[in-house]
Amino acid sequence: MKIKSVKSHVLSYDLDEELGYSQQYYARRTAHLVAVETDDGLVGWGECFGPGNVALANKVIVEQVIAPMVVGESAFDRERLWHKVYNLLRDHGQKGMPMQALSGVDIALWDLFGKVTGQPLYNLVGGRCRERIAVYGYGMMLRRDTAGLAARFAAEAAEIEAAGFRATKMKVGLGPKADIELVRAVRASLGEDTRLMVDANHCYTTPDALYVGRAMDELDIYWFEEPVAPEEDQAGYAELRRTLRTNISGGEAEFSRWGWRPLLENRCLDIAQPEVCALGGISEYLKVLAMAHAHFTPVINHVWGSAVAVATNMHLLAAMPHMPGGLHPFEPMLEFDTTPNLFRDEMLREPLDIQQQVKDSGGWVALPKGPGHGAVPDPDFLDRYRIA
Ligand code: CA
Repeated sequence: MKIKSVKSHVLSYDLDEELGYSQQYYARRTAHLVAVETDDGLVGWGECFGPGNVALANKVIVEQVIAPMVVGESAFDRERLWHKVYNLLRDHGQKGMPMQALSGVDIALWDLFGKVTGQPLYNLVGGRCRERIAVYGYGMMLRRDTAGLAARFAAEAAEIEAAGFRATKMKVGLGPKADIELVRAVRASLGEDTRLMVDANHCYTTPDALYVGRAMDELDIYWFEEPVAPEEDQAGYAELRRTLRTNISGGEAEFSRWGWRPLLENRCLDIAQPEVCALGGISEYLKVLAMAHAHFTPVINHVWGSAVAVATNMHLLAAMPHMPGGLHPFEPMLEFDTTPNLFRDEMLREPLDIQQQVKDSGGWVALPKGPGHGAVPDPDFLDRYRIA
């Protein structure tokens, strides 16, 4: 089974409503899918993290830098090909876009392995560790009209809860005092048993994060995500983790086992959030997962993107061992974006249908189907939204 071609599909559409996080507002949604075809006609699908123009640049890396390194090679040789690409690109980027591009190719090779063996991805990466997966619904994105935001967030939190989610996540980024008011408003609108997480997208200095975090400690916040810059300020993470009662989470912007090693060794995180479509694909995710568990750091995957990324993460969560174990062990959760996303909800002929399952079950989703990750994009859908 030799690799015949590697192609990128960059999709985009205009959102009905602009959304924001602490770094920017955005009005378009983008997805970057990678198709790896073999000489016997099988196609595996992967996805690269990176929105907007980043996706366009990553397409060039996938098709013009990585493809010539892997075409003609055996599609089974995932580890050898991963290291071939990594070693050849080391001098040009051990983090960031080259790793995002490699991630999409690696995920497609795992999907091919599933298709050729007829097995769901979770069986290829260790088998089932659970029969269903808890889901948390994130929303409460920033808007330009900041005056009415607290009331708007409170209403949205109640809607997410009413949709069946037992855990939810909000954005902050208006500044420390205003952020505390936002968190207070959302917490007050949720039931006591509903978990609330807060995502800062690294907008604070460490002293400001401590100020906001101390308020969160009183508001029963489950985690405080990316309070400070992800890899540049590991000492800040460690200080926050030592000082605050609220769990400190992060890692979505970290890459490879070598990037993750100091984050874990320096005890920066209570909860690790690796992004499989960025850090190096499934091959590298499994190494980072093992390393996180070696440090007794629980993992809750960062999930963003189309149905390919969501399905891949569902398989990885299905196969994630409990850490630590017990009668009532720590359960990972599937991150689910409650804002409109056609690339997740309408790209597959057989949709993942997460929203209905969450509503019917009170916050859970069944294990995904295979073979591979099971997400096969509808070619007509790709034609409709492809921009490159
Ligand atoms: Ca985040």
